[in-house]
Amino acid sequence: MLYNTLGKTGLKVSRLGFGTMRLPTINSNADIDKQEASEMLSYGIENGINIIDTAYPYHSAGIDGNGNSEKFLGEFLKENNLRDEILLQTKSPSWLIEKKTDFEYYLDIQLEKLQTDYIDLYLLHSLTVPDWNKVHDLEVLDFLDDCLSSGKIKHVGFSSHIEIDYLIEILDEYPKWEVALTQMNYLDEYYQSGVMGLNYLKEINMGSMVMEPLRGGRLVQNIPNEVQELWSTAEKKRTPVEWALQYLWNRNDVDCVFSGMNSLNQVKENVRIASIEDKISENDQELIREVARTYRTFLGNSCTRCGYCMPCPHGVDIINCLTEYNIAHMMQNPKASAMQYFTLIDDDSRADSCINCGECIPFCTQMLNIPEELQKVYEYFGSEFNHF
Ligand code: SF4
Ligand code: SF4
Repeated sequence: MLYNTLGKTGLKVSRLGFGTMRLPTINSNADIDKQEASEMLSYGIENGINIIDTAYPYHSAGIDGNGNSEKFLGEFLKENNLRDEILLQTKSPSWLIEKKTDFEYYLDIQLEKLQTDYIDLYLLHSLTVPDWNKVHDLEVLDFLDDCLSSGKIKHVGFSSHIEIDYLIEILDEYPKWEVALTQMNYLDEYYQSGVMGLNYLKEINMGSMVMEPLRGGRLVQNIPNEVQELWSTAEKKRTPVEWALQYLWNRNDVDCVFSGMNSLNQVKENVRIASIEDKISENDQELIREVARTYRTFLGNSCTRCGYCMPCPHGVDIINCLTEYNIAHMMQNPKASAMQYFTLIDDDSRADSCINCGECIPFCTQMLNIPEELQKVYEYFGSEFNHF
């Protein structure tokens, strides 16, 4: 494993962080497969991962729920006596905060779930501009000051999918921020705060952490022929996962990449890649830019399958509707995707069940107008399977 210094925290962190948002499950998203998830965490930690990320809602039945990721992690760390061996990062559910006392209310629940009396890195989760204004008015910075003084929290930061102007505004508001978690991969250099955000974080010596390194798996699954042909011309051959991760680790403004791993094999593969110093040549850097340009010509929408919009109160399977539409575009194979769309998604969960109520829109981390995107899905696939 290779390590970086996490900005002004001075902490030495593995450049691969363990994300616990997509742990393997058994029957439902809330039902973590504890045996496999424990094997994954054990392997990762034994092989050098020293920072783990979770959040209040991860692995809950609904987006506002009290998730099981923190609870599972607390049990795992306790049983294996590992709490003090790793850096634990979790996040305050900023969208649930309604009054000043809620900050402490949620933190105390999280400490209990995680079976610890301190959090190494505590982030305000997925800050949107309205949520930032709300928590700011509710004096979140005083709350963070108090937690830093009492030792409940060692370092503070935030995660966000906002644009660069707002990122800078939030960063400049509080001198005690030490880390920020933003989205980056080779498709997203100019999306959200993008490379400008990373540059600014570096400039002010903030710990820079990255999420969505594989863009919800899109950079490593169902790779179009055009992209495969481009990769085959590389000076050095790499797997799609290697391209995506080494692209980030070749940047000097990324300290830690969080990957939400789903199987032991993924952990093994990511750990292997994170342990290799692999300088990408200038020609191969240009090839990555060419691959990104090619991908952009295929995408149907920019959904990352993060799940924040779910569940839809009217039963629409937003994620899989948008995913099948995307795969159809990327694979340029509408028939195959139509078969998936009509067999994997229930009748009353397809795009034509959307009633355009708009309730999901504020939750979309990619700022998608979800009902408009679903209308495109409906127009593309129709309401009956008659694609042959
Ligand atoms: S706009 Fe459509 S997908 Fe979104 S919550 Fe309403 S019915 Fe569900
Ligand atoms: S539609 Fe938006 S919120 Fe929902 S899964 Fe896709 S990116 Fe995430």
